[in-house]
Amino acid sequence: MTARSLSDVEYNYKLINDRIAEAALKSGRSRDDITFLAATKTVDADVINHAISLGLDHIGENRVQELLSKYDDYNLESCSLQFIGHLQTNKVRQIIDKVDLIQSVDSLKLANEISKQSLKINKKTDVLIEVNIGKEENKSGIFPEMLEELLCQISEMDGISVKGLMAIPPICDTSQKISKFFNNMHNLFIDISQKKLDNISMTILSMGMSSDYYEAILEGANMVRIGSSLFGARNYI
Ligand SMILES: *Cc1c(COP(=O)(O)O)cnc(C)c1O
Repeated sequence: MTARSLSDVEYNYKLINDRIAEAALKSGRSRDDITFLAATKTVDADVINHAISLGLDHIGENRVQELLSKYDDYNLESCSLQFIGHLQTNKVRQIIDKVDLIQSVDSLKLANEISKQSLKINKKTDVLIEVNIGKEENKSGIFPEMLEELLCQISEMDGISVKGLMAIPPICDTSQKISKFFNNMHNLFIDISQKKLDNISMTILSMGMSSDYYEAILEGANMVRIGSSLFGARNYI
């Protein structure tokens, strides 16, 4: 990595933090109420570690293989490693001892496997439920109307602890349209918290990426997942 790109990351990191602080204030909260998670797919461990040295304290990977290949190189002393991508049941075992939170649980089968593998290593794994808020076909996430039933089933599992919700809304051509999806997610989050389901806590609402994290925070997100605005455009090889 060149010094140029490391200084870009530093510049972007400060800029994003300022915008997060501004959106937090605008929505009646403070900067500390919002968690900035960096989406690190395709980013080299040395660049990720540079961001961590600037104060970044949450990172999220999308692919099991990539997480495993970088795992020994991350500097995780002051940083939480999370899984944010689609997770296949047969790969849970490979990451269960390495991640602090799995953001992308969307089926009973996956939840069961996470619970089972967690219990094997005497762990209770924190998860978010991924909601397909735009009800898009071929997209991960559970439909909103199925959420409560899934939560009730998961609440019986000893190796898993639900901490909140995650969503990736459809691509929208206006900020009003995307804000509406974020608002629907926030309403769902509030509804579920008010039901006070056993063993289910609604503390994290993870939504908003590079192009829309500002809108997401205004609508109530308390965790944003940002990749390209921090690290630059991704090069897929
Ligand atoms: C890549 C990714 C992000 C970040 O996307 P950017 O648009 O680059 O900020 C956020 N969440 C998930 C689940 C991702 O896969």
